[in-house]
Amino acid sequence: MIPFNQLKPLHDLLAEEIALAMRRVADSGWYILGPEVEAFEREFADYHNVDHAVGVANGTDAIELALRAGGIGAGDEVITVAHTAMATVTAIEAAGAKPVLADIDLSTYTLDPKSALDSVTDRTRAIVAVHLYGQPADLTSLGAIAKERGLLLIEDCAQAHGAAWNGAKVGTVGHMGTFSFYPTKNMGAYGDGGAVITEDAALADKLRKLRNYGQTTRYTHQSRGRNSRLDELQAAILRVKLQRLDRHNQRRQAIAAIYDELLPDLVTPRVAANAEHVYHLYVIRDQRRDQLMEALKARDIGTLIHYPVPIHLQESHRDLGMAVGSLPNTEKAAREILSLPLYIGLSDDEVKRVCMTIRELRG
Ligand SMILES: *Cc1c(COP(=O)(O)O)cnc(C)c1O
Repeated sequence: MIPFNQLKPLHDLLAEEIALAMRRVADSGWYILGPEVEAFEREFADYHNVDHAVGVANGTDAIELALRAGGIGAGDEVITVAHTAMATVTAIEAAGAKPVLADIDLSTYTLDPKSALDSVTDRTRAIVAVHLYGQPADLTSLGAIAKERGLLLIEDCAQAHGAAWNGAKVGTVGHMGTFSFYPTKNMGAYGDGGAVITEDAALADKLRKLRNYGQTTRYTHQSRGRNSRLDELQAAILRVKLQRLDRHNQRRQAIAAIYDELLPDLVTPRVAANAEHVYHLYVIRDQRRDQLMEALKARDIGTLIHYPVPIHLQESHRDLGMAVGSLPNTEKAAREILSLPLYIGLSDDEVKRVCMTIRELRG
């Protein structure tokens, strides 16, 4: 049996250090916005070579608060993709703005800059670029569009901790980078967590207020905010995980390299020339995807589809009024993509077994 994902093997590797971190917090008697969150924010900012990191409750809030900090809300349009986790769109709507869904580049599964440009109207205020599966979106082109049109560029890095574009870590090219520490992400907490990074001191200051009811000093509020805090326990655990992030990403890249080598006749991930891909997911494409998925399941190999129904075709978003066929690349991807097993603790032999099974099934 090779499951699609499991978290226990990684925990077993780190168990002692994680236990010490949790114990340290429990014994400290301080559980919200304390020394662990402060230390994690400093270390996460340093890792990205930026001035500010602000811990928040989850990756959805990170996007919502980034938009709010950027002054975006009711009446504003925000361009993003329909080929992403629902959370990206949930966050835009939570900020009070209208999501405008553009198409993807089918070779990288990320926002197609031409489609983004075609979606700009006089109400457009921001672009949320999603670095899907661990691969950066085309930040050069999207950065140029944002600059020319005076738009805020937010990078949704929930699937791409440590990935890079032209050597710069994702999250540092746009005005703000948002992260999720949901347990299955490349850097996962033991519960929910998120962060926003930025070089802009004024944005960081707004984010710190927004996450804590708009509070400036105790019980004094200059603006309205929310409750969206990273807790001390998660921060202490994330400090352990951050030290291993590059090594874990290297292991993910090594697994991807075996898939690349042993699945040459399939549509395997294409890495853009400027990109460092950190393989949150290893996604192939096959016109007979459903049969392949079923056959792998029958041979005890787990796979998943990220994502089977694009957001513009979800029942929840019918009111966007987008018909079937309106985002052809997105819809083609949704029909053909399949995510193969990939996690820390998956052995080379297991990866090879997945490859041999796929080759056998496809004749
Ligand atoms: C996971 C994810 C999010 C949301 O993160 P949560 O911590 O679950 O709120 C946002 N965007 C993308 C692309 C994600 O994969």
